[in-house]
Amino acid sequence: MAQDLRQAITSVAGRPGPLLSAYLSVNADIPENQRRAYLVRLRDAMNDEGVPEGLQQRVREYTEDETHPGARTLAIFAEEDGLFEIYRLQVDVPESFRWGDPYVAPLMLALDEYEPYGAAVLDAERFRYFVVSPLSTAHGDEEMKANGFREVNVHPSEPYPRGGGSTDLDPAGRKHQSNIHTFYKELAGLTRDVTFREGVQRLILAGPRERTAEFRRTLPNDLQERVVAEEHVDLGAPEGELLDRLEAVRERAEHEREKELLDKIRESGVRGLDETVAALQEENRVYHLAALWELEADIRWCDNDQLAIHDVSSEECPFCGRKTRLRTLTDVLIDLAAARGARLDFVLGEDENTETLRDEFGGIAGLTRF
Ligand SMILES: [Zn+2]
Repeated sequence: MAQDLRQAITSVAGRPGPLLSAYLSVNADIPENQRRAYLVRLRDAMNDEGVPEGLQQRVREYTEDETHPGARTLAIFAEEDGLFEIYRLQVDVPESFRWGDPYVAPLMLALDEYEPYGAAVLDAERFRYFVVSPLSTAHGDEEMKANGFREVNVHPSEPYPRGGGSTDLDPAGRKHQSNIHTFYKELAGLTRDVTFREGVQRLILAGPRERTAEFRRTLPNDLQERVVAEEHVDLGAPEGELLDRLEAVRERAEHEREKELLDKIRESGVRGLDETVAALQEENRVYHLAALWELEADIRWCDNDQLAIHDVSSEECPFCGRKTRLRTLTDVLIDLAAARGARLDFVLGEDENTETLRDEFGGIAGLTRF
């Protein structure tokens, strides 16, 4: 699926333009998006960028019709006559708008950096598997659910009493531990298949504590390594509640992952704007970047060399002598990271990670190869 998407992106990137590339934050948890204020930002940005009126109208109609976008970011690519594609990203990407050449770097980065999560939800007789990935799209008979989760159907061969509340099945007394064990063994194999097929890197197990612990022991080693959390949940709870719990676990696991990244950077990395940009751009030794989501800074850029210029006052490029321009640091980081093959994690919110990054690392830092 990610592979198909990469092809779609490549085909957008290869178009001559002009086209609209827009990354619109629609995340309802971000205060700036209350009462769908993003619609106003989109309208203003399209005006500023000089998007033709007819196209503006089409994009506005599409976005205004969506009262609940079911995503954190909408990635929009639209031509005046032709291409009109909207991707729903389950990740936060810095907002940007461009009319002209296609701008796909933020989407590429989102694909590279956000690992799909899987969640196996189980008890003694039921099993469900959910996947959430940066671009969750439901296919076949699947259904998109809350928080970008979609359910993947897993069918064990044994006719176990699963979920449906069948009446001809016996109460718990008859289900011996060995039956459950056999059930789990088969499910472990199926879970492994689904996990690898879906490209899931990080696995959450959810259910009654003793069941998830047992299931975890049944998993093959290469799958055990991907388990990032065991969460005690009641499968009888409403589905919306369950998915909210899973999303909370996912966010906690992401927070931990960020913290580990920052710890590693502290041990062997670069920090601060000058040092990080030099290591990324000139020395090409940064493979994983962490940057504050709200980096309020501009930097000089040479379009001809596709390079950041360290001296913010130099209107002429020191390499080729052409005119430079000011760009937001965030845009420049996205382009440099994409060009150098570095992962880029934006750290947002207000927590210990953003504090570390802001106060200790000066807003931007990177993990280095050597
Ligand atoms: Zn230059």
